[in-house]
Amino acid sequence: MNLNESVTVICASKYFDTSQMRKLYQKQVFHFGENRVQDMLKKMDELKDLSITWHFIGHLQTNKVKDMINQIDYLHTLDRISLAESIQKYAEHKVKCFIQVNLTEEDQKSGINPNNLTQFLLEIRKYDKIEVIGLMTIGKDMDAIATEHAFMMLDSLAKRENLPYRSMGMTSDYELAIKHHATHLRIGRKFLDLL
Ligand SMILES: *Cc1c(COP(=O)(O)O)cnc(C)c1O
Repeated sequence: MNLNESVTVICASKYFDTSQMRKLYQKQVFHFGENRVQDMLKKMDELKDLSITWHFIGHLQTNKVKDMINQIDYLHTLDRISLAESIQKYAEHKVKCFIQVNLTEEDQKSGINPNNLTQFLLEIRKYDKIEVIGLMTIGKDMDAIATEHAFMMLDSLAKRENLPYRSMGMTSDYELAIKHHATHLRIGRKFLDLL
């Protein structure tokens, strides 16, 4: 395991209300990731006295971009050109983005096909409001072998494309993610242990 590189742990807070998030903040959890725009905006308002770094980690509908893009610090789920166009239209500053890659061949899952990654990166360059900082993927539920394969692939794709950050690993698979050089973990249920 390579522990030289520091890893950012993001609390995937879809399970938590704002009083629980306050408790976690008091325990030095400063990064939170939300999946739903409306929930996130409500929580942002209730927690505006705290210095939280906000990550959006859920599927993002194009028509929701204008409501949230200027409130977040990181977007983990850039997965199509139409979303990039919407960000370009509404963002008032450069947005740090991870490109979501589907590496488990599950049709119901978002993310671009790894074979299209290079082309996608090329196309995205013309949007000056988007700063691609890394890649993101989600492992396969209940399948450690497919999950490890996905994390290994994400690591090698990030290296190939010279992207410094890799967002991968959740409660059930974060050790595998660290083994394959994750830089951002998105951990939800495990934070219940801290509450
Ligand atoms: C909920 C969620 C997580 C965290 O899931 P846990 O299994 O509770 O750790 C991570 N990433 C995304 C995209 C999620 O929706």
